[in-house]
Amino acid sequence: MERFISACKELDIELTKEQVLAFQSYYDLLIRWNERMNLTSITEFEEVCNKHFLDSLSLVKVLSIHSLKGQKLSLLDVGTGAGFPGIPLKICFPNLQVTLLDSLNKRLTFLNEVIETLCLKDIVTVHGRAEDFGKDKAYREQFDLCVSRAVANLSSLSELCLPFVKVAGSFISYKAEKGAEELEAAGKAISLCGGTVLETKEFMLPGTDYYRFMICIKKTKATPMSYPRKAGLPTKEPLC
Ligand code: SAM
Repeated sequence: MERFISACKELDIELTKEQVLAFQSYYDLLIRWNERMNLTSITEFEEVCNKHFLDSLSLVKVLSIHSLKGQKLSLLDVGTGAGFPGIPLKICFPNLQVTLLDSLNKRLTFLNEVIETLCLKDIVTVHGRAEDFGKDKAYREQFDLCVSRAVANLSSLSELCLPFVKVAGSFISYKAEKGAEELEAAGKAISLCGGTVLETKEFMLPGTDYYRFMICIKKTKATPMSYPRKAGLPTKEPLC
């Protein structure tokens, strides 16, 4: 845990005692539930801290801690799985209003238990596909931030995620080695869905040799109603 605490410091995140305990409980639940359902292939404590917790928090490479701490920003995590990056972000930035979306209900049962055990507030789980919720008025263009990690390539993700973002909000995609290549291929999808690439950041996760490539896309105009296309198409036939 000491190494995780100091890696967080390198990201300028000072964990409180309560936050350290929350990460410990999250780890314990993840390992316990992972015996019954497929949540993660990474189970060793230090690896979970680096590859799941720290990686999730590296959002601060493209968004200021000040903005994450200050205002009550709404954040949607598309394809959250076992809660990455949404839960670590909520633990560190409790002012965020978090929505965790996934098409696999079993994972949301796990997340509801995490939310209850960690006494997290202003956080909900939503079961369904991004293609369907992206057309729903209650979700479409309702979020300041949309994040997604390890769900699809950037072209498909842009179609799945940008419809959720308010104009002037941001979609942040967590990538690694293939990030630059995916970005090159996703130009048309990003612009068709109303986005403009604002910034990319390449870095190593603190204290590790894990390379990361973070892409921050600003929503500059409304997404046309034709996107997202029907379920399955964004990943089967990415816009290009
Ligand atoms: N984001 C997590 C992470 O980084 O560990 C989970 C990644 S897991 C490889 C991909 C997750 O995305 C799965 O839980 C899957 O059910 C979900 N998913 C895939 N396509 C989706 C879609 N169209 N809408 C909602 N969830 C989706």
